[in-house]
Amino acid sequence: MSDTRTILHVDMDAFFTSVEQRDRPELRGKPVVVGAPPDKRGVVAAASYEARKFGIHSAMPSRTAYRLCPHAVFLRGDHDKYSRESERVMAILRDFTPLVEQVSVDEAFLDVTASLRLFGSGEKIAREIKRRVRETTGLTASIGVAPNKFLAKLASDLKKPDGLAVITEENKLAILRPLPVNRIHGVGEKTEPLLHDLGIHTIGDLERFPLETLRSRFGVWAGELKARARGEDDRPVVPFSEPKSISGETTFERDIRDEGRMEKVVWELAEEVARRLREEGVRGRTVQLKLRWSDFTTLTRRATLAEPTDDAARIAETALRLLRKELAADRPVRLLGVGAQNLERGAAQLDLFDQRTARKAQLQRAADAVKAKFGEGKLKRGGAV
Ligand SMILES: [Mg+2]
Repeated sequence: MSDTRTILHVDMDAFFTSVEQRDRPELRGKPVVVGAPPDKRGVVAAASYEARKFGIHSAMPSRTAYRLCPHAVFLRGDHDKYSRESERVMAILRDFTPLVEQVSVDEAFLDVTASLRLFGSGEKIAREIKRRVRETTGLTASIGVAPNKFLAKLASDLKKPDGLAVITEENKLAILRPLPVNRIHGVGEKTEPLLHDLGIHTIGDLERFPLETLRSRFGVWAGELKARARGEDDRPVVPFSEPKSISGETTFERDIRDEGRMEKVVWELAEEVARRLREEGVRGRTVQLKLRWSDFTTLTRRATLAEPTDDAARIAETALRLLRKELAADRPVRLLGVGAQNLERGAAQLDLFDQRTARKAQLQRAADAVKAKFGEGKLKRGGAV
């Protein structure tokens, strides 16, 4: 077997709005926006393809979206429903390999290298996944097939929506060279102008640019940039088990009534939760507040955000809003807790490892072998570009 891997990037098409249009036929063919209402502060979480034609995109303020398209249908969205749909999709993906790395609610990388003998080519697997996703959920996915994550993600975007694109070692440079350099992950608002200053506009420009000059500007990152320009990416697909929630709590030595002190504690807890979310590489969509009165009665309150977060301020502000609604009673507080739930990036990953069918066990063993081959060791070698 050669050293070539087969990686799939599966990306659901306009996921939240597609779920809404599936369940509410009257919304089909219409511009639909899921996110904050247009008269409130907050952003667009997702926009249907019809809405995108008006220039609406996710993370845009809802007010701006409304200005661009006042007749769009604005929905708060049902994030529990999207999570359930996401789980159905991820379960299908795990039928093809245990090496599924969920990167968000509607996106995942699969390493199917070890599954090829069972299922045929990467393209065949991609077609089968698309068919099963459509059959099971009524939704469409776009899939990129490639020898690594960078190219697979690029490929999934090439023929969206309902697309399937294959990038190979043979055609990769022809596809990469004409693309703008900002298609490389990590080349954003800061790096792009610096590259432009050097006359680098396309990925092809970057591929031809001398490494030494690049290194003087970008340090160790230069090697990685050059590798991407050549279509190389050694990062492994890493499936991992997710915590279901991350939380912290504080019990006061003496019950307190001082709202200022409670606020301070909520902020500290939020900082701690945010730090641990970032450590785990996950973000929470739901913020929970736990409150215990001096008589030991305990309550929990939750709020769901339009977008998952690992930001301490977002968590603290949400928890404080929940806290203030409860404090009117002026009862002394014994304990405060802050948590993040509904974490995004692969749920229930542990289930993989007690799948009992022979096929799954076989897949697992084959996948482990690939992991051993392309795991940490490979990562380290990648540094010496
Ligand atoms: Mg998507």
